[in-house]
Amino acid sequence: MKAADNVFLVVKPGVVLTPIIEPVICSLEIYFREAGLKAFVTSGLRDAHDQLRIVKKYLIAKGLDKHYPATMACKHPMEKDRGYYVWQLAWSHLLNVGVIINPPLASECLMDYFRNGKNRKGQIINQTPHANGTSFDIGGAGGDDATIKDELVVMERAMKAKVKGLIYILPEHNNNAIHCDCVRS
Ligand SMILES: [Zn+2]
Repeated sequence: MKAADNVFLVVKPGVVLTPIIEPVICSLEIYFREAGLKAFVTSGLRDAHDQLRIVKKYLIAKGLDKHYPATMACKHPMEKDRGYYVWQLAWSHLLNVGVIINPPLASECLMDYFRNGKNRKGQIINQTPHANGTSFDIGGAGGDDATIKDELVVMERAMKAKVKGLIYILPEHNNNAIHCDCVRS
């Protein structure tokens, strides 16, 4: 089974698959076919460099890039300034304005960030699970009315059916994507 053969849950060009996520993406094809819904896998394996690129992308989308010129110019996720990662405050600001995004490398959140009623400011937030090759994202359709509503209905059905290898889904409305976690099966 190859995810490249999927017709309904299509893997976007440039997305890096792993032996852990590819079989799950193949298994999900039938759920999207039954729903008559064409959807896209928009992200797979991502390393710290990829994650830094995504942080920059969201800073631009939220109009925050001008406040963080050092982050925008940062070439390596390990770069530090006065004990903090160069991108750490800018990334914390994204969490503060509601963009759910893991840091390029595990690090402390420097701004207020409320999740499930708790402020996670001062807590260490883990590196993206995408760096382990155990996660992928399903994106909403493009256009002005882009939402993940239809995709979420299908993925909730797949979760109920206990699709092998799929353990957790997280709708990220701000990112217009559903984050999916897998385990080696
Ligand atoms: Zn994700």
